[in-house]
Order: sequence, then C-alpha cells, then structure tokens
Amino acid sequence: MTTPGRPPFVATSVRDVAISLYGAPGDVRVEGVVDLAIVGAGPAGLAAAVYGASEGLTTVVLEAEAIGGQAGTSSMIRNYLGFPRGISGMRLAQRARNQALRFGTQFYTGWDVASLETRPDGAHVLSTGGGSVQASTVVVATGVAYRKLGIHTIEDLVGFGVYYGSAMSAAREMEGADVVVVGGGNSAGQAAIHLARFAASVTILVRRPALAETMSQYLIGEIEYNARITVQPCSEIADGGGDGRLEWLDIRDTTTGAVTRRGADGLFLLLGAEPNCDWLPPEVARDRRGFVLTGRDIPTERWAGELPPANLATTVNGVFAVGDIRANSMKRVAAATGEGASVVPLVHAYLAPG
Ligand SMILES: Cc1cc2nc3c(=O)[nH]c(=O)nc-3n(C[C@H](O)[C@H](O)[C@H](O)COP(=O)(O)OP(=O)(O)OC[C@H]3O[C@@H](n4cnc5c(N)ncnc54)[C@H](O)[C@@H]3O)c2cc1C
Repeated sequence: MTTPGRPPFVATSVRDVAISLYGAPGDVRVEGVVDLAIVGAGPAGLAAAVYGASEGLTTVVLEAEAIGGQAGTSSMIRNYLGFPRGISGMRLAQRARNQALRFGTQFYTGWDVASLETRPDGAHVLSTGGGSVQASTVVVATGVAYRKLGIHTIEDLVGFGVYYGSAMSAAREMEGADVVVVGGGNSAGQAAIHLARFAASVTILVRRPALAETMSQYLIGEIEYNARITVQPCSEIADGGGDGRLEWLDIRDTTTGAVTRRGADGLFLLLGAEPNCDWLPPEVARDRRGFVLTGRDIPTERWAGELPPANLATTVNGVFAVGDIRANSMKRVAAATGEGASVVPLVHAYLAPG
C-alpha cells in the first residue's frame, strides 16, 4: 500500500516490517525482579509465556524482530495438531500472543538481547539496547537463523522465485517449472521430492561428489527412482538474476571452476541453520555447533551431582532452553510449543523447591 506523495515502503528485514506495523520499539521498562524472562517469541517462547503467565508467574518476553519466529514466516503450517486445513504461521503466532497477553505477559519486541549476566544466587540480568530485565529464571528460546547464500543478486529475489527453507507452500507455484534445490541434507531431499510433484524438472545441486555422506539412503533411493529429479554433484551457485523474478542461474563446477548459465524458475536454498546463540555467556554450555545443551546431553563432569540436570535445564541454575536452539531438538512447531509448555513446571520447581 502507498500513500500519495510518499515513496513506497521497502522493508529490508523482519524488524523493518514490525516497526512499520507497530512503530519503533518502546524502551524496556520492567520494575523489580520478574519470575520468568523469555528470550525469543517463536512458538517455543510463546508457549512458555502462555503457560508461565497462566500459572501465575510474572512473565516478560523479549523479542528481537517480530512475534512468531521462523513459524511466522511460513504461509501455511499443515502439520500442527488441530488444524486439518493448516494455519498461517503469523496467524498462529498472533493468537498465541493474544493468549499470553490475556494472562498478563509483558512483551517487548524490536530489541535483541545482547547479553545474559548469570547470577545463580540472585536475579539473572538480560540486557538490550532499550533497557535491561532482572529475572529469577530465564528461558532461552532464540531458535535458529537459516544460513544465507551471500550472493546479493539472488538475495534480492527472495520471495520472487528464490526461497529459503523447504517453502512447501511455494511448491504449488512451481507447476511445470524448472527448479533448482541447493543442499545435500535430508531437508533438501524431501524438498526436491515434494517439488517434483509439481515442477517439470528438479535439479539438486551439491558441492560434494555424491549425496551418500549427507542424505539418508531411503531418500537417495526415491530421488534415483524419480525421473523428474537430477543430481548435479560438485556444483555451486555463482550468480543469478532476472527481471523482478528469478530467470537464470550461473552454476560453477567446483572441480574445474567452469561456469555455465541455465534458465531457472525456482531456487530453493536448504543450506542448514545456525543457532542464535551469540549473546549467551560461556557458562551456558553448548555443543560444537552452538546449540544449547540440556539435561542428559550435558557432559557428566558438568552435572551438579550424580543425577543429570532436568531435561530442559542448562548448565546454569535457573536458565532453561526450549525449541530449535536446544541441541537435538526436533525442529518442528509442535515440538517447540511442547517444550515451551513443559519448561514451566521446571521453573516452578526452581522458584519454590521442595
Ligand atoms: C519457512 C519455514 C516453514 C516452516 N514450516 C514448518 C511447518 O510447516 N511445520 C513445522 O512443524 N515446522 C515448520 N518450520 C519449523 C518451525 O517453524 C520451527 O521449528 C519453530 O519455529 C521453532 O520455534 P522456536 O520458538 O524454537 O524458534 P524460532 O521460531 O526460530 O523463534 C526464535 C525467535 O527468537 C528471536 N531471537 C533470536 N535471537 C534473539 C535475541 N538475541 N534476542 C531476542 N530475540 C531473539 C528470533 O527473532 C525469533 O523470533 C518451518 C520453518 C521455516 C523457516
């Protein structure tokens, strides 16, 4: 929508969209020590807020961008329990936010948490550019960020033939199209098989010489059997473009360096995801990729006694982790919301032991 006399609004990030809808973020003003501070308002953080606030905990949510997290960017979530026709991620998130608000949750959006100062015998302190929050317990629900291709001509076409993640809903738009999928993992294999139901051709680009090291054998079998899918090994994207929409890609042979141009109507980038964990202090133990360790996944030398920490507890007392940021999590909306709900009894147990 444009207003006469004003240039059209061009959003460069989710944060821009949130600011255009709700205005610039207000300062974080929280008096005293709250029972529960949740960092991240994706499905996991929203569920923790609903269950925490509904059970009488003073609850604050700090969100860097917009409510909904990754799920909020999905136009249709089809596997969430109770929605047989699917529900848009943004709608699900808005409903959850309203539910949490009704129970008294305070939301602060547009401020990313820059640091966590852990104080096991007092209140933990979360700092943002707009103020800080003191909390007896902290739930880390900061999820993951998809790895970017880093080629700006292609980044400019995201949403216009170029998609990050499996983008199941975009598959139907690929009827009769020539599609390229980048990635060698299971998610790339599943996306290629799904896209081949609609597209005329699907090419999977991988840097390695074969898929065997990175993809499950059952998917490799299905891909070999599918006449519409081709695997192009030792290849990577060098460039791409089109007039307002993706039309062509330059593909580099990683063994010879030769670049070949081809037509493409769709590009699906499944490059893996990085945990949003830069703000966490070293005392919150993580795995080698940066995902937060909880429960039995914590090495025994960091357990407080003979028994492992509770299943969503981290190496710091009173700090918990839920959803995609947690090591070995399922990376689904239902799992994230389930963990968000399950963490609340642990918070109660920590606040009122015995
Ligand atoms: C396009 C797409 C489609 C998907 N479709 C489905 C589907 O159909 N079904 C399904 O089950 N799953 C789907 N998923 C996966 C699902 O969305 C995720 O598993 C789920 O959103 C994880 O929830 P989360 O709350 O753990 O993390 P996220 O959703 O990643 O939310 C984390 C939140 O934390 C915020 N944050 C990060 N760092 C900070 C910080 N320092 N300070 C404050 N806030 C911070 C982020 O801005 C974000 O809002 C999809 C994912 C994508 C990307």
